[in-house]
Parts: sequence; structure tokens; C-alpha cells
Amino acid sequence: SRLQTDSEILELKKKYDTLPSENQIKRFTDMPLSEKTLKGLIDSKYTEPTDIQRQSILVALIGKDVMATAITGSGKTLAFLIPVIEHLYMNKWSRTDGVCAVVISPTRELAYQIFETLKRIGRYHDFSAGLIIGGKNLKFERRRMDQCNILICTPGRLLQHMDENPLFNASTIEMLVLDEADRCLDMGFEETLNAIVENFPTDRQTLLFSATQTNSVKDIARLNLRDPVFIGVKSKS
Ligand code: ADP
Ligand code: MG
Repeated sequence: SRLQTDSEILELKKKYDTLPSENQIKRFTDMPLSEKTLKGLIDSKYTEPTDIQRQSILVALIGKDVMATAITGSGKTLAFLIPVIEHLYMNKWSRTDGVCAVVISPTRELAYQIFETLKRIGRYHDFSAGLIIGGKNLKFERRRMDQCNILICTPGRLLQHMDENPLFNASTIEMLVLDEADRCLDMGFEETLNAIVENFPTDRQTLLFSATQTNSVKDIARLNLRDPVFIGVKSKS
């Protein structure tokens, strides 16, 4: 019920003020996450967070920008999807509130996998999510897009919608996730990303994930990271 939701949100907010330290977190239930998210995780047999999840989820929950590096297979998808889902829940985002979070991934296949994971772990929540990767009917994507709270996109297709779709409203966006940021740059998407982010509100939260160490990522001109927390990036002198 609505009252239960309100009191759960209040309880969780209180916990945000006194977060456990990384080594106190053995299981996802040790993190201040909503019951709906925990249920979705358990359904998928996710019980213990991986290192990158342990390191990124709490800082992302409290709204900080994150720049994280961790090898392929380390569990980066949940490291950003859990904070995205919790952000919508904690802010009582409803279906009619527009796009709250945009996840950008370099390839259709990766975007599709993220979308599938989101649907699985987010199944008890009420948000709507859309996959914007091209290869499908542009008109269909266009009509659906403004009704989505979370968009999982490839860079080119997202920019195409932003340029051509009068219904797309970027002003409601509160979170940007760039997955495989290193690969996005390798694939030549820098200009596209700059053009996309130009349309986003500057006071959003930004989460950047890469598989390899790279400094060029934070130079993507428009990303405007706000005092990011660096995770898994060894400083090089
Ligand atoms: P990355 O994006 O870092 O390459 P993924 O997010 O694709 O990694 O996760 C790699 C694999 O690990 C996937 O099969 C995923 O289901 C699994 N996985 C992720 N997090 C956990 C977890 N906490 N417990 C068990 N398996 C996990
Ligand atoms: Mg990945």
C-alpha cells in the first residue's frame, strides 16, 4: 500500500545516513535496498554482491557520481541497475513522470542483455522500461519512448530519437549510466555521446563503467562528472 511504501522509503532514507562499510556487507540484504528489489534479486539467485557491486552500489544510492573500472564478468550490470531502480523507487517515480534514467551501451546485444536483467530484477516494481537500439520500427520506439521511465539505448539510436522525435523530453532525466565507456570511445562514439549529453540536465547523477582503465573517458567533454568516486581505478603517476 501507499502508506507502507512511504514508511519503507523513510526507513531506507534513515539508513542512507549511516551506511555500513564495505566489509560489513556480505549479502544484498545488508544493503539498504527496497523489499521489491531484494525480492527480484533473490528470484534470480543473486544473494551476495560481487566486489564491484559492493563498492559502487552504496555510493551510487546516495547520489554520488561514480567512475568504476572492473573486468568483464565482474558484475557491472547490477552495480548500476540496482541504484537506478532504487532511485526511481525512493523518488516515487510514476509511469507518467517521464524518463528518469538513461543507460547507454555500445552495442545492441549488450543493451539487450541489460534490458533483460532489468526486467528480471525489477519485476516487482512499477516502472516502465524501453529498449532503444534500432533495427526495429522507429515509429514504434518513438511512441513508446516518452512513456518509459528507464531507457536502455545504443548511442546512435538515442541521438537519432533526440534529433527527430518531438515527443522526447530530456529535461526529466536524473540519471545517466554509460556502460562500457571505454568501448564506446574505441568505437568512435565520442561525438555522439557529447551531442546526447548536451541535451541532458547538468544536475543529473552520472555513473560510468569501463572494463579497462582509461582516463579519456572522463574527458568526454559534456559528461561533467561532479566530484566522482573512483572505483577500481589505480592512480598512475
Ligand atoms: P560485466 O558487465 O562486468 O561484464 P555482468 O554484469 O554481465 O558483468 O555479470 C556477469 C555474470 O555474473 C552474469 O552472468 C551475471 O548474472 C552474474 N552475476 C552478476 N552479479 C552476480 C551476483 N551478485 N551473484 C551471482 N552472479 C552474479
Ligand atoms: Mg557489462
